Amino acid sequence: ESQKETLGFQTEVKQLLHLMIHSLYSNKEIFLRELISNASDAEDKLRFAALKDDSLYEGSPDLNIRIDFDEDANTVTITDNGIGMTRDDVIANLGTIAKSGTAEFLQQLSGDEKKDSKLIGQFGVGFYSAFIVADRVEVFTRRAGAPAEEGVHWDSKGDGEFSIESVNRDVRGTQIVLHLKADEKEFANGWRLRSLVKKYSDHISFPVIMKAEQTEEGEEAKDETVNDATALWTLPRTEIKDDEYKEFYKHIAHDFEDPLTWSHNKVEGKLDYTSLLYLPARAPFDMYNREAPRGLKLYVQRVFIMDDAEQFLPLYLRFTKGVIDSNDLSLNVSREILQNDSTVESIKSALTKRVLDMLGKLAKKDVDSYQKFWDEFGQVLKEGPAEDFSNREKIAGLLRFASTNTGEAAQNVSLDDYLGRMKEGQNKIYYITADSHVAAKSSPHLEVFRKKGIEVLILSDRIDEWMMGYLNEYDGKQFQDVARGELDLGEAETEEDKKQQEEATEAHKDLLERIQKALAERVQEVRVTNRLTDSPACLVVGDHDMGAQMKKIMEAAGQ
Ligand code: ADP
Ligand code: MG
Repeated sequence: ESQKETLGFQTEVKQLLHLMIHSLYSNKEIFLRELISNASDAEDKLRFAALKDDSLYEGSPDLNIRIDFDEDANTVTITDNGIGMTRDDVIANLGTIAKSGTAEFLQQLSGDEKKDSKLIGQFGVGFYSAFIVADRVEVFTRRAGAPAEEGVHWDSKGDGEFSIESVNRDVRGTQIVLHLKADEKEFANGWRLRSLVKKYSDHISFPVIMKAEQTEEGEEAKDETVNDATALWTLPRTEIKDDEYKEFYKHIAHDFEDPLTWSHNKVEGKLDYTSLLYLPARAPFDMYNREAPRGLKLYVQRVFIMDDAEQFLPLYLRFTKGVIDSNDLSLNVSREILQNDSTVESIKSALTKRVLDMLGKLAKKDVDSYQKFWDEFGQVLKEGPAEDFSNREKIAGLLRFASTNTGEAAQNVSLDDYLGRMKEGQNKIYYITADSHVAAKSSPHLEVFRKKGIEVLILSDRIDEWMMGYLNEYDGKQFQDVARGELDLGEAETEEDKKQQEEATEAHKDLLERIQKALAERVQEVRVTNRLTDSPACLVVGDHDMGAQMKKIMEAAGQ
């Protein structure tokens, strides 16, 4: 018996399908990239599983992906001989969305086609993109190693439910049949399909095979490999075009947009590995979710080992996407082994430098792109000084701040910009922290700096005060919180200023004592200041006390 049953899609799938079909229409051809990408992932997974048990190959270890089409029936069929799926796999993978944060993501969708298509792109459309061009999709699949009777047939019109039944399937792997919509006939065409494969999937690791277009009279059409089928990162840089780098990024990152930049390196010697690292143009919708996937795709000697290998980069660089292919690690590595492996440690510290250098280069040669990066990922990079002591100076150079120089909230001033504008005799980098940019900007602590024309960095992100706790100096200049301790303006403070302050202290001795008494326990000290020009008084935090923002965070955490 085939145990045919009809099941409803999870609500989120229904919503996604509906929104996707409408907002991705102008990008519809990406369905082929998504399906080939899944097929390639399935081949990777089989090759990995077969390392331990090569009976999974069932005697046919040549991995490939086929694309067929039928103009009359208006169908396109994508077939892989990868890992395949069990009935339970099919129900879980093609009926629900397992990603964390899905509900939040769906809430953000607005119905505005342009905005939504970007969001959906960041979310990753995957298998369901088939319904952009098809009004019925069938999946035939069998898990590698399972008996022929355990084949599965999945069938859906994308309108809320799908049916699933057991079928006999001699070959392992997955076949997807797209019944194209009447007005999507263009895709049931050899030339069109070929050009899409070349465009989107030229450098995946597996051959994509199609029937040749031209046949000798009376002869059966021959199979031919349509793509290049060599993993992109294994090619020399000089042989790779920018477009190929970009398409490969979209393949591994499940992103719609081009990356901002990339860095491709082959390392030989003590360590032997290749890395291809990308900076995305946009933060994923779930970047602040602690469980969100991060890390690189790990290959060992060109065999795919795992996705999201997070051991190769520190957390504060978690926006980086890419591939690492090592010749030093064993094919048997597991996440546990990666965690305390000295080779991995060495690669991690080298990759960290690479990413920081890649950012430094981008900042130099393309200010606009760097600003884009900063606006998307700056908050994450700000975790760097605390997490990575040894690269503090480098990270600091990559930070961007709002400052009194522009007076705007945009964070676009680098420490080097600041140093370049320092006043004669100034020897510190001044900053102020507050809950909001507006609050910081209107602080009385800035009065004397305005008067003297000294620039102050304005920090109002939640993480800022914490971050500054880990930054002591940059380029030999100390950081100074303007709301803290004695204010030392260095040589920018004239003898005149000092004399004035001493005289004022002397003259107002009684007043100071009375205020001190009145405030008794509530302040440590009351003193005359030259910080202010307009305001009569301000609060100053002791040099070693916790700042106001930090206090709030601690209080919120119940400390
Ligand atoms: P993603 O690829 O990002 O995981 P998809 O929507 O593209 O999301 O696919 C969902 C899941 O369905 C995959 O993670 C995989 O487990 C399964 N799947 C899809 N296509 C195939 C295939 N050709 N072979 C085996 N499993 C597949
Ligand atoms: Mg996918």
